[in-house]
Amino acid sequence: MNTATSPSLEPIRVGNQTLPNRYVMGSMHTGYEGHEGGFEALGRFYAERARGGCALIVTGGFSPNVAGRIKDTHCTIDDAADIDGHRRITAPVHEAGGRILLQLLHAGRYAYHAAPVAPSPLKSPLNRDVPRELTHEEILETIEDYARTARRALEAGYDGIEVMGSEGYLMSQFLALRTNHRTDEWGGAFENRMKFPLAVTRAVREALGKEGILSFRMSALELVEDGMTAEEILILASELEKAGADMLGTGIGWHESPVPTIAGVVPHAGFAEAIRAIKNTVTIPVVASNRINLPETADRLIAEGSADLISMARPFLADAEIVAKHAGGRRAELNVCIACNQACLDHYFTGKPISCLVNPRAAHEREFQEGPADRPKKIGIVGAGVAGIACALEAARRGHDVTLFDGADHIGGQLKLATVVPGKYDYAAAIEGFEAQLQAAGVAMKLGHRVTAQDLAAQGFDEVVLATGITPRPLDVPGAEGANVVGYTDILNGTRQAGKRVVIIGAGGIGHDVALFLAHGEQAGLSEQEAFETQWGVGRPASPAPAAREVTMLQRSDGRFGRTLGKTTGWILRQELRDCGVRQIGNVRYERIDEGGIDLRVGDEPMRIDADTIVVCAGQVEHDPLSRQLSELGCSVHVIGGAEVALELDAKRAIDEGARLGNRL
Ligand code: NAP
Ligand code: SF4
Repeated sequence: MNTATSPSLEPIRVGNQTLPNRYVMGSMHTGYEGHEGGFEALGRFYAERARGGCALIVTGGFSPNVAGRIKDTHCTIDDAADIDGHRRITAPVHEAGGRILLQLLHAGRYAYHAAPVAPSPLKSPLNRDVPRELTHEEILETIEDYARTARRALEAGYDGIEVMGSEGYLMSQFLALRTNHRTDEWGGAFENRMKFPLAVTRAVREALGKEGILSFRMSALELVEDGMTAEEILILASELEKAGADMLGTGIGWHESPVPTIAGVVPHAGFAEAIRAIKNTVTIPVVASNRINLPETADRLIAEGSADLISMARPFLADAEIVAKHAGGRRAELNVCIACNQACLDHYFTGKPISCLVNPRAAHEREFQEGPADRPKKIGIVGAGVAGIACALEAARRGHDVTLFDGADHIGGQLKLATVVPGKYDYAAAIEGFEAQLQAAGVAMKLGHRVTAQDLAAQGFDEVVLATGITPRPLDVPGAEGANVVGYTDILNGTRQAGKRVVIIGAGGIGHDVALFLAHGEQAGLSEQEAFETQWGVGRPASPAPAAREVTMLQRSDGRFGRTLGKTTGWILRQELRDCGVRQIGNVRYERIDEGGIDLRVGDEPMRIDADTIVVCAGQVEHDPLSRQLSELGCSVHVIGGAEVALELDAKRAIDEGARLGNRL
């Protein structure tokens, strides 16, 4: 698609400024906010996105005052030194031709520090501490804190402010009856509950003057009991416009909502209807967000009138050049965000700086060498799983002559297996993107042929990288060789079908994925969007689909099932398995398998489970058939990914290792 036919590439007026296209990089905490040296990293990270064509960037949340910070490390803009620090963010973005807003986020009762404050002393289900109720005077001071920080933000070079008003933070806490039990002028009727966000909007408007952009990110759908009603949301939108907002961002749900809002199970642009209702209420531009990861979705939303701009946060981690690729006819080469949260949100919530599973450079730009290598080399990479792909792409970008080998006739390795798991369908788009990037980078692909050590040695490679991956760990239980015992790879790639009653041996990430794949039933006759809303009770009572099979998961250890699943997505998978009636039995010892099922012991008690199929998901072992021979033949060999250490290998580690090696070869 070219500029002439692409609605998302059209310029748009926001406040007194004209943005060159409709792409906003939505706010995301990076873990660098408030860290020494973090501002340089942020400057470089955001500048790369601005260079890639993103029209407007919004920083992670900075607090208007100390009480509002999310964590102890999260800072405010207090003095001249802070203002200077922020210039290290804004200057590189402007040099790269971009614009950037500072997001002001007061966490209220969502703060992870010892002295949280909120409209009412009501503890959040996510936090330990009961917040202290703000006094009337403190509310007025907080409004002034927003205005003062907005003035400082302009001094620091920001193009404006985004007020974070959704997702259950302080603004939401004032707006919703759920969290606002005040009886003074700041609580009660909706008119009163709106007072604080509207006062902040007016105060920030005044602080920014006419030039600075004022975005208010409001909730388009609350997804919590006693959140704002649909009617109240639209009243708020109109009032925010009157109070001086230039643009309305949108957020979906609160952090405590029992409904997935950004994970892979959410359909692309799955909340567009709620966002469209806001757009139809106001005359200022409205920004759509949540599960929009492809430019064609952005184009559709704008063309159908659901929104004026599109916010992508995680997708800009995955690919800094979304806009440039879309505009330049290189859409196929997109590095697609797969909504896994593994290296972004899961890192943030476990105190690590964020990155991206499919793009380890993201927010770690300084750790990668730029430009061509001193000496171009001839490099052979064996294994076109994600470690091999990442290595090939980085090496080719540095000017090496790269050949990628794989015995399969396709790329993707273990990641390809995951493409059939519900909620992981975007993995296929990511693999397509990798394939186009490999072609564009000039990597020679030799697929469908198992290369030998002699072949490799004969081709005179300067370096050989072995990314040959893993093989599933064989099961050491009597009867494991039976025809009813199947490995997970055969189930996921469709070579073997499971019967109606299934036992899964092993409950790691793959055991959970296979359980969902097998137990997941269809919501008959419903579209993907309707099925999601029905499954999770969005705008209707929840009614999970009937299970497709009777599935029992087994593990030898006694711990909680799913403890290795992602911090921000594991709860979704666990809920889906509960909805499908999947049984989970731990502390087992396997005794024998026969054609009718499996005998085991649970603790000391014998147990028999009748089953048609036993699926083995017992982890993996290294698969490295080549390194010894290659070393003997005098080749320079590097072993990466699962071929080096299979234990706890996941795609994140494999891609990271591959990319870093490819970059330094
Ligand atoms: P895993 O996480 O190591 O789990 C292997 C499972 O097999 C364990 O539950 C283990 O439990 C069992 N097991 C180990 N040795 C066994 C044996 N000799 N006999 C019987 N059972 C045995 O490996 P995975 O599930 O294959 O996953 C591989 C990697 O991919 C992991 O790092 C995982 O986190 C990642 N991954 C994550 C997700 C996700 O988060 N959704 C999805 C897919 C993959 P017991 O020893 O207690 O029986
Ligand atoms: Fe997207 Fe996963 Fe990367 Fe996060 S880690 S940006 S969810 S691909």
